Amino acid sequence: MRPPMHDPILPGATIGVLGGGQLGRMFAMAARRLGYRVHTLAPEHDTPTGQIADVEIEASYEDLDAVRAFARRVDVVTFEFENVPAAAAEAAATVTPVRPSGSALEIAQHRTREKTFLVKHGFPTAAFAVVASERDLVAAAQIGCPAVLKTAALGYDGKGQVRVDETKALADAWRELGHREAVLEAFVDLEREMSVIGARGVDGAFSHFGPIDNDHRHHILDISVAPSTVAPMLSAQAVEATRAVMETLGYVGILCIEFFVTRNGALLINELAPRPHNSGHLTFDACRTSQFEQQVRAICGLPLGSPELLQPAAMANLLGDLWLDGTPNWQAALAHPAVKLHLYGKTDPRRGRKMGHLTALAATADDARGLVVQARDRLLARAGE
Ligand code: AMP
Repeated sequence: MRPPMHDPILPGATIGVLGGGQLGRMFAMAARRLGYRVHTLAPEHDTPTGQIADVEIEASYEDLDAVRAFARRVDVVTFEFENVPAAAAEAAATVTPVRPSGSALEIAQHRTREKTFLVKHGFPTAAFAVVASERDLVAAAQIGCPAVLKTAALGYDGKGQVRVDETKALADAWRELGHREAVLEAFVDLEREMSVIGARGVDGAFSHFGPIDNDHRHHILDISVAPSTVAPMLSAQAVEATRAVMETLGYVGILCIEFFVTRNGALLINELAPRPHNSGHLTFDACRTSQFEQQVRAICGLPLGSPELLQPAAMANLLGDLWLDGTPNWQAALAHPAVKLHLYGKTDPRRGRKMGHLTALAATADDARGLVVQARDRLLARAGE
């Protein structure tokens, strides 16, 4: 018989991961180190997660029979990708615990539901309006310009977004998005972007990694640096907002909140990611417990580990673009002994595709940033340079 929901799922048990990307891969590494077995389900084979998991199932998330069969063979199900249909999480939940829950996934994967949830509970967001029909365009224009029109579902890394510089361009922008439900958001004058990764256990225990500063390039995360240099008051506000969002959702697992800090010193929630996050990759090398290990502990009902940052760190994403002129020069990037290389096992380096990352540790956050940028630049150095 299956144990009641609050009994810990102990090492030796099996964790199921919906999704096959790099987040699942690093989660599987942490889970296997703790002695768990890992099964993964995704619509492809030889996935980054599947390469590390004990069992890889290739099936569509819409194939609910396959999802239920997958869930029957594991002790707890989690996901590494928020665009897993909520119906798949619900199907799995009829068989085994799903953490975080399908209801948290449903909110975080849809901008209208996410923003409505945040506003209802008093969390600050940029001004926005929902555009679901031609008629909504008139009211949405009140948001003013510049603004960004974002599809409500299936957007990430700036995909499904169009900048709107004058109100008369709004109808065209919506056409460009295929007249799908969208959210028009006021453009924020950013002082910085930062994220807080929180963990919440089955017993309600809360832990966080502290704000991490993030730089984006072409809407994709480029560099993350910890600790953040944000003012202590904003740091405390961001951590408290993360705790409160997780508590309101009754959340179990890792949640990342992406924040905007405006030039006027206001803190706004950009979006929720219901899983480990790209900005937390540096926790693998720099923290006593990584975000991935913390996710294992949280969803299995184990005590949370210390999130302490052992040394300032910076992470640089490695996109497929770096492969355009051939294999990157790994030796040159790793010439500095404090630089760590993580590759995700992807064989097709397309432009903009996240292939891996570098982490650098140093005495100060600035030094770590300089080092990781230099190491990444060296990837393009010819042998002998
Ligand atoms: P998103 O997919 O919504 O996180 O957007 C990707 C990136 O686009 C963000 O990390 C920001 O750099 C930028 N961005 C998105 N929305 C806004 C906004 N309302 N104001 C300013 N920059 C934005």
